[in-house]
Amino acid sequence: MKNLLFSLSFLFLISNGYGQTYVPFYGTVVEQVSETNVLTNLTEFENLGIKRRGTTALQNTLDWLKAEYLSYGYTAAQIQEYSFTNAGTTCKNLVVTKVGTLYPDKFVIICGHYDTITGKGTNDNGSGVVTIFEVARLLQNIPTEYSIKFINFSGEEDGLVGSQNFVSSVVNATNPKMDIRLVFNIDEVGGRADMTNDTITCERDTGSPTSNNAASNAFTNQLITCTQLYSPLNTYLSYAYASDYMPFEDNNEVITGFFERNETPHRHTSTDLLVNMDPHYVYNIAKAATGAMLNFAVASTTLATNDLSNEYQVSFYPSPAKDFLNISLGTLTDSHYTFTLVDLQGKSVINKQIENAQLIETVSLTGLSKGIYLAVLETAKNRISKKIIIE
Ligand SMILES: [Zn+2]
Repeated sequence: MKNLLFSLSFLFLISNGYGQTYVPFYGTVVEQVSETNVLTNLTEFENLGIKRRGTTALQNTLDWLKAEYLSYGYTAAQIQEYSFTNAGTTCKNLVVTKVGTLYPDKFVIICGHYDTITGKGTNDNGSGVVTIFEVARLLQNIPTEYSIKFINFSGEEDGLVGSQNFVSSVVNATNPKMDIRLVFNIDEVGGRADMTNDTITCERDTGSPTSNNAASNAFTNQLITCTQLYSPLNTYLSYAYASDYMPFEDNNEVITGFFERNETPHRHTSTDLLVNMDPHYVYNIAKAATGAMLNFAVASTTLATNDLSNEYQVSFYPSPAKDFLNISLGTLTDSHYTFTLVDLQGKSVINKQIENAQLIETVSLTGLSKGIYLAVLETAKNRISKKIIIE
């Protein structure tokens, strides 16, 4: 059975990577997007009030976001807040990290702002918030090759202040800077109550710098295909502007985005409310976004976690480990490789070139905090990773 599953998943991996055909397992995940959750979460978002900088409503919304992610099974260690100053007030971006199995230090970011201005902002951008919730809920227990950061930005309505701060003080704060595969921004996807909402605008980068535009175009094409494969929506190709992906674009990252095709006349007013939008449209957006994120982060294609990590009998021990970790090359014959230890936020805490490799190499863990890490052994041809515990 295992062999059969493995062969099937291998076939799907290939067709997904090149032809981007329908992956049945992704389809079963997308079918679990809940219209009830979408409606309930939109209502709760609306009831939290006007989420302007410096308000209690904004802080209450942040607390609500954290409670939601915890309820989906994310741990406190996976949730980080980043404070920044916004016109004399303190605002916070919320970041939830899911570590990838193969590329733990390379990130697919899915993001949208949770602050509002003037009104309660149920469309702009409660619709994006609840879409990200459904993606986060459904991907929580599905292994993905790339790490994912679910980000709820604040300060968007004050001029992209939160995302600008995140790029300068988090993405660019390390050397090398954070390695980002893609930024997928979702802003104002609520549609209009007085219209038929059957099309989503997919946004690609057409701006400067131009060196990242071809990659943005390629990922936006994938977004279009995934929307068609996993939701009933039609797509409309347009360009990215005026939302939280722009600071990333300026930083030469690869971006894509969702924006409603029927634009609301209620944006930034007191009538940006559930009654004026189309929650069934948001439900379909959540399906498209879930399918796209399974594809972008390269999710496992079966529920049975594949056995690729057992290849070549590579092992890391003891686990739990304390002062040191042994790396066994198993049946690999490489004379040099890179060993990386990555924490739950996707940060490399050890990155070591091993030359003239012996069957067993030992690395020191001195100074590392207790917790769960991903150990990664990378040779010229193979990349093998496993979770380990340090206590
Ligand atoms: Zn917005």
